[in-house]
Amino acid sequence: MKIEILGSGSAFAKNTTNSSVLLWLEKDNAVLLDCGFNVFPVILEKEYAKFINTILLSHTHQDHCGSAVALLEYRHNILKQKTFVGGVSWEKLLRLCDGNDAFDMVVQAKKGLKIETMEVPHAKGMDCKALFVEEALLYSGDTSLSLLDSPFAQKAKIIIHDVHKSGNSGHVGLDELGKATLEMKAKTYLTHYAPQDYDFLEDKARKLGFAGLAKPGMTIEL
Ligand SMILES: [Zn+2]
Repeated sequence: MKIEILGSGSAFAKNTTNSSVLLWLEKDNAVLLDCGFNVFPVILEKEYAKFINTILLSHTHQDHCGSAVALLEYRHNILKQKTFVGGVSWEKLLRLCDGNDAFDMVVQAKKGLKIETMEVPHAKGMDCKALFVEEALLYSGDTSLSLLDSPFAQKAKIIIHDVHKSGNSGHVGLDELGKATLEMKAKTYLTHYAPQDYDFLEDKARKLGFAGLAKPGMTIEL
């Protein structure tokens, strides 16, 4: 398995791609974790759509789900492929598609892929989940609470975790994440930041013992 970072940008950051991760199970079979409003063009450009058999969403803010339906429709209408969708509920998103066709696009159950979720605090009244895939990758989605002391973090081989320079009501700050054990931090890559914060975060993350910052194009072997 291999992780490929498609984007690491926060909601309205300029000149970057929304935070999004691909977990390659095999060379022609990948799981996409989050598909924000500017992610689908990157997938088209890289010609990855035919390999993304599964799309999981952490929550339905536009920087996490904004082009997920476009990818689903492209796979259905152009590639004639069905897609397994999961994470949070897709019911409302599927209503954006053509009438009864919508539910034809998706596979309702996927055998052999281990997906677990954990509720996280991020936005009031919205279903927000961290995703734990194949007992190997923990992806936090957006969270105001550090997940680095959770049972999934203990089990994970690699963690991709939301970070904010100083923390706010929706996103955990780097100082708070820094309280985790060195063992946890050594396997954690931080994501969902504005490009102008990169130098500050990178320097501080390195000093705290994190594996680093997630960057578009980065690959991590599992
Ligand atoms: Zn969010």
